Amino acid sequence: MKSYRTCFLIRIITDSGIEGWGECVDWLPTLQKGFQERIIPYLMGKPVVDRAKMVQHIKKWHARSAAAVSMALTEIMAKKMGVSICDMWGGKFREKVPVYASFQSYSEDGSWQRKSLSDIEKAIRSGFDRIKVKVGGKTITEDQEHMVSVQAMLEGKIGLAIDANQSYDLAATLRWQSLLDHWPNLLWLEEPLKTDHITDYALLRSRLNAPLAGGENVETAAKFLPFLTEHALDFITPDPMHTSGLEGYREALSLSRLFGIRVTPHTYDGALSRLYALFAQACLEPWSKMEADAIEPVEWDAMENPFAELIPLSPSFGNITLPSGIGIGLELDVDRLAFYQWDGASYG
Ligand code: MG
Repeated sequence: MKSYRTCFLIRIITDSGIEGWGECVDWLPTLQKGFQERIIPYLMGKPVVDRAKMVQHIKKWHARSAAAVSMALTEIMAKKMGVSICDMWGGKFREKVPVYASFQSYSEDGSWQRKSLSDIEKAIRSGFDRIKVKVGGKTITEDQEHMVSVQAMLEGKIGLAIDANQSYDLAATLRWQSLLDHWPNLLWLEEPLKTDHITDYALLRSRLNAPLAGGENVETAAKFLPFLTEHALDFITPDPMHTSGLEGYREALSLSRLFGIRVTPHTYDGALSRLYALFAQACLEPWSKMEADAIEPVEWDAMENPFAELIPLSPSFGNITLPSGIGIGLELDVDRLAFYQWDGASYG
């Protein structure tokens, strides 16, 4: 298990002094070198209005860096126009977006189950009404024991998503069937199988009485198409840092609406990209006519994540009220950012 977390933040400042922040994740020395030697020299002197062209170009070098540049240029463009990100994207359908508390389940100590239960209990006490828990890191028997204890605590009142991180094959997943059948609060089962096994997903979807979710590592909207045309998933889970720019990310959201499939964004490593996922979700039409404002939740990392403090935003009763000011509508905590700055030492 990793004992550290990393995140790479960039700031672009225009000649007239307008700032925009971007965020990506990868091996830090690679990102540092890539930005210093290629991306910064390339961006210097270019007009912000050409941002799609620039993001497209950087994508060929490094898709994840392109995602960061896309965020920064989007913020700058909104500020130039004097509008919020949501206004620039067509306007908000809603002021609040639901989030679910996302847990890792496993910890180093022997009583990981007890630790996991106490983490979940804390989140529920703080008002979350939906959670996601990991399985697949232990034997199915151990994980099932744990999930039965989790469910006893939730008492059917809290929505539960289960994330297997591509740990199973079809047969192993079906061993969950009898439990899942009796869990009406189940929101979805996430990535039980390897993501490229699309046919197996379609087969599983027709056999298992549980909505299936997946696709957090899918890099372009086009790569979601096979899942949609093969009816392999009930939810797609794009991540604004894994698609090569916010445009591509939002294309994935639109695709989900066109195919009538729900979209619940994966956002784990960074607080800025999570904010963009929330903005995009606010601007997305409802997925259903059942409720006036039916919108899928965004992932909210409930584990210890110091980077979350860089963005002053926290949920209240499982919802985020979006900032509505110009650009991203809030300021990053640059003092804290300086405190966490990587000193160039090796890590691993
Ligand atoms: Mg996942």
